[in-house]
Amino acid sequence: MPRPICATIDLAAFAHNLALARRCAGSARVLAVVKADAYGHGLLRVLPAAQRADGLAVLEIEAAVRAREAGFVGRIVLLEGCFDERDLEQAVHLDLTPVLHSAGQIDALARAAIERPIGVMLKLNSGMNRLGLRAAQFRTALAQVEHMAQVRDVILMSHFANADDQRGVAHQLAVFDAAISGSTQPVSLANSAALLRYPQTQRQWVRPGIMLYGATPFADQSAGELGLVPVMSLASRVIAVQTLAPGESVGYGASFTAARPMRIGVVACGYADGYPRHAPSGTPVMVAGQRTGTVGRVSMDMLCVDLTPVPAADVGAEVELWGRAVPVDEVATSSGTVGYELLCALAPRVPVRVRAAAEA
Ligand SMILES: *Cc1c(COP(=O)(O)O)cnc(C)c1O
Repeated sequence: MPRPICATIDLAAFAHNLALARRCAGSARVLAVVKADAYGHGLLRVLPAAQRADGLAVLEIEAAVRAREAGFVGRIVLLEGCFDERDLEQAVHLDLTPVLHSAGQIDALARAAIERPIGVMLKLNSGMNRLGLRAAQFRTALAQVEHMAQVRDVILMSHFANADDQRGVAHQLAVFDAAISGSTQPVSLANSAALLRYPQTQRQWVRPGIMLYGATPFADQSAGELGLVPVMSLASRVIAVQTLAPGESVGYGASFTAARPMRIGVVACGYADGYPRHAPSGTPVMVAGQRTGTVGRVSMDMLCVDLTPVPAADVGAEVELWGRAVPVDEVATSSGTVGYELLCALAPRVPVRVRAAAEA
């Protein structure tokens, strides 16, 4: 029998979240962000459901190659652009849309002898100060790119630093609109947070990521409140039960000590499976359909749970680490991180099962 841990990827949930993104997007087209191997879900696993997007956004050429080979015919954006000339050749060959975020990337494209023109996304740094041209260089760059024989079409883009928090998008939006004023090129601005909260950022192309996987981009609004459904669930089982006397402790560092007689379940899931090692005692977990909490330090292969609320639970009891009953965002908040990180960190050793949309 295989070790009982398993992740399930629910494609009906992905389809539901994509449909919700589309409703928020109005007439804008949707680029499904599937970087980081579809936020840990597996690019090829989610592709059957992501086919309904107008385009995909990835980082590595290899991911774009896999999506094309799997039959994706829509636009595929390379969010960090091409890293060298070979990438550019492949981008042309596969009809990819690289981001141009620096003068160096624009010059490389201008020098390239390419067999047919490609789409590009010209990126403005509107205040995040990660990738993108400064406003002062943007107009000249746009004029240059629009006239390049290598370029078929241009989408103007920027990325928000604060769409998920109180600061919002107003400042960056004003910088962007000033920098592009007079241009009629299509625009792409919105990540999930902007798409959900700021309709004025929709424009022609939106770029939702996290919401497609059913997790929230916000600290103050849950995925459930947003109408999103989790795509990944991580489940395992209790593989041992210990009965503690008052004063006895659990696991490495003896960080948890029982104050009263207590049954605890040992679950086959640890940080080498992608569960956060920083999850403190009390992090929510479902055992045999009942909500309880973790106890003690998460170790490489196991973690412990309090069986007090589920006295009937024994070896073999089903455990949901995250999924529909325990949102990944709750585990993340308890552990001082965000759902994004936990989803992306699902370990390769965890077997994954895909539930096709029709099975739902
Ligand atoms: C990751 C990313 C997105 C998607 O962000 P979410 O918060 O996951 O919706 C959009 N645009 C760019 C440039 C990104 O890097």
